[in-house]
Amino acid sequence: MSNIIQLLPDAIANQIAAGEVVQRPASALKELLENAVDAGATHIQVVIKDAGKQLIQVIDNGKGMSATDARMSFERHATSKIRTSQDLFAIRTFGFRGEALASIAAVAQVELKTRQTETELGTLIQIEGSEVKKQEPVAVPVGTSVAMKNLFFNVPARRNFLKSNPVEMRHIVDEFQRVALSYPEVAFSLFQQDLEVFSLPSGKLSQRIVSLFGKSYQGQLVPCNEETLHVNVKGYIGKPENAKKTRGEQFFFVNNRYIKSSYLHHAVSSAFGGLIQNDQFPFYVLFLDIDPAHIDINVHPTKTEIKFDDERTVYAVIRSAVKQALGAHHVMSALDFSLDVNFQENWASNPDTKVQVDREYSYKTFNTPEFKKSSVSGWERLFEGNFTPTPSAAQNSEEDPEFLTFPSRATSDESRFLIPPQESEATGTTFQVELSYIIAQMSTGLLIVDQQSAHERILYDRYLRQLQSSQGASQQCLFPPTVQLNAGDFALVMDMLPELYSLGFIVEEFGKDTVLIQGVPADVQVKNEKELFEGLVEQFKNFKNELSLDKRENLARSLSRRASIKKGQKLNPQEMETLVGQLFASQNPNYSPAGNKTFVKLDLSSIHSFFGK
Ligand code: ADP
Ligand code: MG
Repeated sequence: MSNIIQLLPDAIANQIAAGEVVQRPASALKELLENAVDAGATHIQVVIKDAGKQLIQVIDNGKGMSATDARMSFERHATSKIRTSQDLFAIRTFGFRGEALASIAAVAQVELKTRQTETELGTLIQIEGSEVKKQEPVAVPVGTSVAMKNLFFNVPARRNFLKSNPVEMRHIVDEFQRVALSYPEVAFSLFQQDLEVFSLPSGKLSQRIVSLFGKSYQGQLVPCNEETLHVNVKGYIGKPENAKKTRGEQFFFVNNRYIKSSYLHHAVSSAFGGLIQNDQFPFYVLFLDIDPAHIDINVHPTKTEIKFDDERTVYAVIRSAVKQALGAHHVMSALDFSLDVNFQENWASNPDTKVQVDREYSYKTFNTPEFKKSSVSGWERLFEGNFTPTPSAAQNSEEDPEFLTFPSRATSDESRFLIPPQESEATGTTFQVELSYIIAQMSTGLLIVDQQSAHERILYDRYLRQLQSSQGASQQCLFPPTVQLNAGDFALVMDMLPELYSLGFIVEEFGKDTVLIQGVPADVQVKNEKELFEGLVEQFKNFKNELSLDKRENLARSLSRRASIKKGQKLNPQEMETLVGQLFASQNPNYSPAGNKTFVKLDLSSIHSFFGK
């Protein structure tokens, strides 16, 4: 029997490989631009004819190639950029697969002209469908010019599949923009037929953005910077009012390489939160700098996809960076500065002026007059009936000074209530018994409060109010967890989404029977968002089986049960007083939602009677 397996001739192998690397003119342009940047060029000129179908030429003033290298550069897997497999994990250059020139030469007519500084004459190579047609010395400037003509001249089927010129040109401009953004220090120009479409002088990123997208962007950019051990983020975001209804101006670069990631896009758009509408896309150009050992860029031949070994941290850092930038921007507009981009840069790099956005949901001082009125001695007056509580006065914790708020996890792990330390001085009038009951002194006797039942009542009232009115304040999850549910629970959760949102949960569908928890109520003490959420669902189902509560009541009850202070939890005097104050601000302070007594009063006459007085 004869053998039938043969190695493909190089020309055919290259043509097949070319299908991956060169899908359309724009992908060839991308490769050529990246090679020019990798060669250290400071000026790169692009000439496009017939939307790249007839000609794409990239001329750079980089380091050029020797005659031998020029010839080698068209071999498949010929690269000067990596030598060992170890290098794959430390890639800082654009190219590394050594496939681009070979692929381009397989499906087009290519003319390469290149010269290094040390040689007087350069090299000219003409190659068509992988076949070298000409190689000779030539007088050229230092640098490299690659002209790719008649793309797919030898693969008519592919040529026929190219889109109309406007579509192909759009792709070309997209690729050009991405490279131009990632190298603002390199000057670029682009000619379409003989018309100069872009002329981008070397400059700073903010200037590059403006010369690419237009003068109107000048006042619209907010600098965004965040440095962590794992990843650094820097760049610009557009002001919320500048967000557009169409995509196209969202750019992520990882170690200067453009990437697409809907997961990271989500981090940005969710940081904009309510500042833009759901159908709007914010402008951003964000550069992530991360140790190449923590990423894998080798997942896709065209290399716009990337794997991070810790995607969630990257997500959290981006989101926090954008939030901070927006916070800073907010302060600035409040001060009504008309800043230019460069001034903003200075401003934001001064750490003193950074706004801690993470705290925005939970931070509140307790020395506002309203709070004083209703807390320390207020509850006593409340209890005695000469103070009318107005629980509906404020709808959420942002405005309601009476809220017992918890810090977001980002602010502090231990402190349970958001009470600035200097204000929690002991008054000596309240204390805890068995870490379960609060004993408080009143002018008319003693009050014994069950801390858990009391807190459940307070939370229940608040959650009901939130459910009826607006959205509850939310604290973002630092590492948004995904929760895998069974089909029934998933349907239940989907059905509860609006209510969950009112409570402060930001929950999103994330694949089959899975949800992503972006945020949890701001006032809930969270160690584990996933546990809280799963517990809530469990509790909700329990109540559903036991009692016939309406959905909102059930939710409010379930969450107040999950989120309340439990027996055994140590409270400081200020926390105790706040709790008691809030209990008596409730319209129904006597019982917990489950019907347990919340407090007992021991009045003076009873105390006297103990002693026969
Ligand atoms: P890769 O960029 O992945 O190494 P390419 O096929 O794009 O593979 O290029 C092959 C080699 O040719 C590069 O490694 C580089 O040494 C050389 N080269 C390509 N373009 C240029 C250029 N514009 N200037 C200098 N050298 C170049
Ligand atoms: Mg390359």
